[in-house]
Amino acid sequence: MDRGGLTIEAMEPTLADVRAARTLLAGHLPPTPIWSYPLVDRVAGANVLVKHENTQPVGAFKVRGGLTLLSNMTEAERCHGVVTYSTGNHAQSIAYASRVFGAPCTVVMPASASESATKKVEAWGARAVRTGDSLEAAERYAREHAAETGARLVSPGDTPELIAGVGTLYLEILEAHPDLDAIVVPVGSGTGAAAACLVAAELAPGCEVIGVQSSASPAAHDSWRAGTLVERPNRTAVAGLATGRGYALPQRMIAGRLSEFLLVTDDEISEARRLLATAAHTLAEGAGAAALAAVLTHAKLFAGRRVAVVCTGANATIAEMSSLVPSAMHR
Ligand SMILES: *Cc1c(COP(=O)(O)O)cnc(C)c1O
Repeated sequence: MDRGGLTIEAMEPTLADVRAARTLLAGHLPPTPIWSYPLVDRVAGANVLVKHENTQPVGAFKVRGGLTLLSNMTEAERCHGVVTYSTGNHAQSIAYASRVFGAPCTVVMPASASESATKKVEAWGARAVRTGDSLEAAERYAREHAAETGARLVSPGDTPELIAGVGTLYLEILEAHPDLDAIVVPVGSGTGAAAACLVAAELAPGCEVIGVQSSASPAAHDSWRAGTLVERPNRTAVAGLATGRGYALPQRMIAGRLSEFLLVTDDEISEARRLLATAAHTLAEGAGAAALAAVLTHAKLFAGRRVAVVCTGANATIAEMSSLVPSAMHR
């Protein structure tokens, strides 16, 4: 595998890191609820548990990683600040954690990022810089900023502290429900899926971890299938799943450990968002409904089984909220 020159073996977090993250997160975040809904079960033909990361203070699971990262930095490192690049929830997570730990934070967002995402980042007290026409351009800018200011550059994918922090969500799921047949995890950079594989392997080896990505942005899916990091067109409208490349550290952690990696269309994700809204009183963003979309779309794989789907986030834009109701239903 092309590891981009990094010796990432040394960087893989362990279950002990996840447990340590849980201890420190206990002072910041309550465990999130996990519920089943009879109407969701009926439509899915399976026993579905929804893990509600949409209830986090930034509306997404990523805050677990951001807080873990900032709390592991020294006071001196925090003084120099952090810089990262993101279209949305990773940005909010790092901005939120920087506020909690009093570190200056700069987030570089591609010009395509939603106005509402920028506003939320600024509301947590971070500096948002909108530049470039892609996440790759934003990453280059962030790298230069880090070199000039001494701020810590935070990769949204290749950062072990983020994976350890995110792993606490899978501890919560599997300690409460060790009998699960499968957990379905939406994938962008792959930190969530990597953390799920790490925790499941040790706590519930019989529980499959299944990834899902949009067929319009299949870079992580294709990297996993190919066993090497690949770049792919990045055309999904679903922000949390939008990536044009595989990330080395999470790909290494899901290689051979993920049971299956499914693709769904953006339309199938919209259907799942509707079901969450009507049957589970949950307003999910697209990525937050992708796991349920996989269960509905690939129904045979899940029929009659006990499956957890992670509702990873709730940061839908106004446009995404209005697309929940097709015009034919405006009656
Ligand atoms: C980031 C994100 C994902 C994807 O998580 P990765 O760890 O990047 O794979 C899924 N859903 C939401 C809501 C996200 O913000």
